[in-house]
Amino acid sequence: MDTVIAMKKKSERVRPATFAPYIHGGVASLDELSAMVEQMRASGAKKVKLTGEIVFVFGGTELPHSVRENGKWEQNRFNADVVRPVKTCSAEVFCQNFEQPVLDLALQIDKKFRGVPLPTKFVIGVAGCKRSCSEPATKDIGITAVPRGYEIAAGGASGMKPMLARRLGVVPTARDVVKVIEKIIEFFGGGTKYRRLGVIMEKMGVEEFKASAGIAEYFIGDNNGNK
Ligand code: SF4
Repeated sequence: MDTVIAMKKKSERVRPATFAPYIHGGVASLDELSAMVEQMRASGAKKVKLTGEIVFVFGGTELPHSVRENGKWEQNRFNADVVRPVKTCSAEVFCQNFEQPVLDLALQIDKKFRGVPLPTKFVIGVAGCKRSCSEPATKDIGITAVPRGYEIAAGGASGMKPMLARRLGVVPTARDVVKVIEKIIEFFGGGTKYRRLGVIMEKMGVEEFKASAGIAEYFIGDNNGNK
């Protein structure tokens, strides 16, 4: 959906029942995992929302040929200098607290940008509201749905040198979000001596960064989206 669309009021939305099993240390055997899936399926669960990676661990040191060549699942590249899979909150999947729909937008971002080579890893996070369950403030580009559109922040990072993303402002449509991401990636990929976008942001400041990346025109009003 391209614009800020008419949606049901939050009070009219229906949140489906959910159950998030506690998994000690986040590690389960395949038997436990399949038993869990079977029980949930038998009880009527329709889908599952993963909030982190799912990693299968094998007995030996070589990844079996049958997995490498399966042709069905692409492997997540944890150590590649590329745009990583988009991180998305639960928004329309079950949460219903979202200010704008974000699931289609996140899928679009993933399809268009995942795997694009860059000077370093590059993470994009999308959240349906300011509660920020997908932690957009610690992503290279963080998108947060707000009543007037989508707030975009840039330059966040976790890891060795944590940084908080800086707010660039609000854009009115999902199409603008994709356009701004495209331009930031072009700018960042176009050759820089800095390894993280956050360092560029630190050196340039928000307004110079927006002008240099050619994105200033997409934003409405001030940083809060006020005209
Ligand atoms: S960020 Fe908001 S919309 Fe997304 S899961 Fe959290 S509370 Fe729900």
